[in-house]
Amino acid sequence: SGVGYVDTFLQYIKDKNLPVQLLLSTKANDLIIKDGRVAGVMAQAKNGTKYVLNAADGVILTTGGFGANVKMRNEYDELWGKKLGETTPTTNLPSATGDGISLAKKAGAGLTQMGWIQLFPAGDPTTGATSFKLGENSCIYVNKNGKRYVNESERRDVLAKANLAQEGGVFYVISSAKRALVDKDGRNAYGVKVADILKSGKSYKADTLEELAQKAGINGKNLVETVKRWNEFCKKGTGDEMGRPTCMDDHRLDEGGPYYATLMTPSVHHTMGGVTINKKAQVLNEAGNVIPGLYAAGEVTGGIHGTNRVGCNAVPDALVFGRIAALNFVK
Ligand SMILES: Cc1cc2nc3c(=O)[nH]c(=O)nc-3n(C[C@H](O)[C@H](O)[C@H](O)COP(=O)(O)OP(=O)(O)OC[C@H]3O[C@@H](n4cnc5c(N)ncnc54)[C@H](O)[C@@H]3O)c2cc1C
Repeated sequence: SGVGYVDTFLQYIKDKNLPVQLLLSTKANDLIIKDGRVAGVMAQAKNGTKYVLNAADGVILTTGGFGANVKMRNEYDELWGKKLGETTPTTNLPSATGDGISLAKKAGAGLTQMGWIQLFPAGDPTTGATSFKLGENSCIYVNKNGKRYVNESERRDVLAKANLAQEGGVFYVISSAKRALVDKDGRNAYGVKVADILKSGKSYKADTLEELAQKAGINGKNLVETVKRWNEFCKKGTGDEMGRPTCMDDHRLDEGGPYYATLMTPSVHHTMGGVTINKKAQVLNEAGNVIPGLYAAGEVTGGIHGTNRVGCNAVPDALVFGRIAALNFVK
C-alpha cells in the first residue's frame, strides 16, 4: 500500500511540473553542519557516485525506524528483555536501519522513547511478513497443545507477549476456508496466493479439525474441544472463555471444513522511539533547544505513539508531520 501513496505524490509532482529531483538508491551518510546550522547532506549512490547536497533552508529527515537493525534493537529495547536478536524476524524492509537517528544523534539531537519497540503479534516465523497467513490477525490462536490462551482482540503488545510465552514462541492462527476472505483468483486478504502459502509448509489445510491437528502437530483432542467452545460463543454472542467481546463473522468455524492452521510468531514491526521534535517538526537537542536547519517526520521521530502504537496511526504520523515540517521549512 505504500506504493499507492508514493505513486500519488509522484503523479502530483509530474502534473504540477514541480522542480523535485529524486536520487534513488542513494544513501545519506552524513549531515553537513555550517556555523551551528544543518546545511546539507553527504550522500553516495549505489554506483559509487558521491553527492554533496547543499540545503540553504535545511534538511528534513524521513528515513524511518530501526526495526531491521538488530544491534540497535537490542541496544535500546526496554520491553522485550533484549531478546530481539537475529532469530526474531521483522515485518520491515531491510532499509529500516535507523540511519536518520544516528545522523541526528551525531548532530546533537536528543532521542526519546527509544526503548519502546512494537512486535506485530502474528508474523511469518521465517520472514516476519504479516501477509503470509490464512485468516485474519484476530482469528483464534491456539498453541501446540490445541488451547487458546489470550483474547485475540487485545492490544498488540498484550498479544505479542502472550504469543511469545507459548512453546517455541510460536502459535497457530485457525480459520475456516469458507471465511478466510480468499478472492476469486485464490488470493488472501493481502493479495498472496493461498496455494503459495500452503506450499510454504507453514500453513496447513484439512477437511476436519482432527486431520488439521495431525498435519500441523497440534493436540487434536484439545483443538476439537477448543473449537467447540469457540463455536458455542459465536452462536451465543456472550461468555467467551478468553473474554472476547465478539466472535466476528469472518472468524466463525462452525460451518464445517476445510480448515486452515498457520504457524506464526511475533515479529518486530515498529519503533516508537526516535529523534525528539517539537510541534513544528524541528529536531531538538538534548537540552530541548532547536537544532537550526534540522527537521524530522515519521518513524525516525519518537514521542508520538506511546508504548503501543495503534495500527493505522503511523502513516498519518508520517504524512502529517512531513507536511508540518515542509510548511515550516519554507517559511
Ligand atoms: C508490513 C507493514 C504494514 C504496515 N501497515 C500500516 C498501516 O496499515 N497503517 C499505518 O499507519 N502504518 C502501517 N505500518 C507502519 C508504517 O508503514 C510506517 O511506520 C511508515 O511507513 C513510516 O514512514 P516513514 O516515511 O517515516 O518511513 P519509511 O516508510 O520506512 O521510509 C523511509 C525511507 O528512507 C529510506 N532510507 C533509510 N535510510 C536512508 C539513508 N541513510 N539514506 C537515504 N534513504 C534512507 C528507506 O529506504 C525508506 O525508503 C506498516 C508497516 C509495515 C512494515
